[in-house]
Amino acid sequence: MTGTIEKQTPPQQIRFRDKKTMIIKCPYCGPRDVIEFTYQGDATRQRPDPASSDQTAWNAYVYDRTNPMGSHREFWLHAGGCRQHLIITRDMATHVISSVGFARDAVSSGREGDRP
Ligand SMILES: [Zn+2]
Repeated sequence: MTGTIEKQTPPQQIRFRDKKTMIIKCPYCGPRDVIEFTYQGDATRQRPDPASSDQTAWNAYVYDRTNPMGSHREFWLHAGGCRQHLIITRDMATHVISSVGFARDAVSSGREGDRP
């Protein structure tokens, strides 16, 4: 096969550059783009006792999700940076972040709902 192959930028990359993105202030790395982070779930869920065989409680823990409006605590992983697990409090409607902290601090103080 002959001919030239033209390099093209995928359209989604062009659109991404035009969008306003979310910035997360990692306590270790500083302000970073959200693409460096991975969402890991709701930080307010309570895991049932591991010794429990209550299938209703385990089913709710594994499958039930809420869709809260307003401020919400979430686990995030800074996968493209320091690889620390973070707990972020974010407004679900505006994406404004009101607090960011290490998940290990919440775990050691017993404030976490669940672990990533
Ligand atoms: Zn980081």
